[in-house]
Amino acid sequence: MGSPTLDTVTQALREVRDPIFEKPLGSLGTLLDVRLDGNRVRVSARVSSPSEEVRKALQSRVDEAVKPLGIEFAELELEVSVPTREATSEDPIPEVRNVILVMSGKGGVGKSTVATNIALALRRLGTRVGLLDADIYGPSLPTMLGIEGHPTSKDGKRIQPLQRFGIKLMSIGFLLEDPKQAVVWRGPMLHGALQQFVTDVDWGGLDYLIIDSPPGTGDVALTLAQKLRLTGAIIVTTPQEVALQDVYKSVSMCRKLNVPILGVVENMSHFVDSAGVTHELFGSGGGQKIAEFAEAPLFGQVPIDALVREWGDEGTPIVQAAPASPAGQAFAEVADALAERVAREHFERSGGDGAPEGEGPKRLRILR
Ligand code: ADP
Repeated sequence: MGSPTLDTVTQALREVRDPIFEKPLGSLGTLLDVRLDGNRVRVSARVSSPSEEVRKALQSRVDEAVKPLGIEFAELELEVSVPTREATSEDPIPEVRNVILVMSGKGGVGKSTVATNIALALRRLGTRVGLLDADIYGPSLPTMLGIEGHPTSKDGKRIQPLQRFGIKLMSIGFLLEDPKQAVVWRGPMLHGALQQFVTDVDWGGLDYLIIDSPPGTGDVALTLAQKLRLTGAIIVTTPQEVALQDVYKSVSMCRKLNVPILGVVENMSHFVDSAGVTHELFGSGGGQKIAEFAEAPLFGQVPIDALVREWGDEGTPIVQAAPASPAGQAFAEVADALAERVAREHFERSGGDGAPEGEGPKRLRILR
């Protein structure tokens, strides 16, 4: 077979379907560039999610499309452009593309652990991430990320967030001399502090701002929903029945406030022993039940793993410390699922023709 022409190859690539939207790249306008060099092609395309799954799916679709034309090797270069929520003229943080609340019915289910690991996993995919710890009852972010100190201000007006592992961070814990102080805070104080965290912190441009909200109450969701358009919420639960009752309340709260539930994470889902046998210590099916009730996908099931707690106490979350561990991978899968869901939500809200916008802030070079 002779060498294929640029035209034939481009034509075939235009028909490749975007893995999230299931529409041809040609019609979405997301095939950016095709360069042919003999039997090798270099393809550059735009996607709306940084997820590994999306990258792999697109790579294999590209390979499949060009192989029959005699192409031996297709190199895919992706430009990731995370879609943005609609910000009104009063929005205090219009450069923050997505604001995502992490909620749970009650404490101790691992909400902060999930929020922190998701934030890190999204960062590791190359996106710009902020993490706001708004859990006044137990601001755990300083411990989990091994960071302390007080935020400063360059101009006396805007507070500079702290940074760790490439993430911008803000926590009520950073503002307290004694973190236990926070427990006595009442609603109005929380309301004021949250307003400040959103309005006065110099978050800059972010793809995702993940907010760890206190368990049970809907105060944070309420305050924020009044102030800005939230992308949506993630609900964290454990598998057992008793925990579920409280979670239903969070789901109802989101419904009332018109905050879309993006997905559900079942944490401490099961335990895999050293012989590889799975034990469902707390029963099973909780995450699935909540997902059905919330009419949202189950993003993932994170196993109980002593490393999660140990690394959390050390100040390096497991996604960073041991990304290949089962729990590390489970968190990465949750982040993938979240990124895809966010992209899809925007696409659906825009009536299905919201092709990912250009001017993506970063180019991810993917080499095989
Ligand atoms: P919450 O924010 O819901 O109160 P945390 O995230 O603070 O809960 O987690 C409570 C405790 O459980 C922490 O010590 C944390 O390290 C531990 N933990 C959370 N998830 C897991 C897991 N999957 N495996 C083992 N320990 C976990």
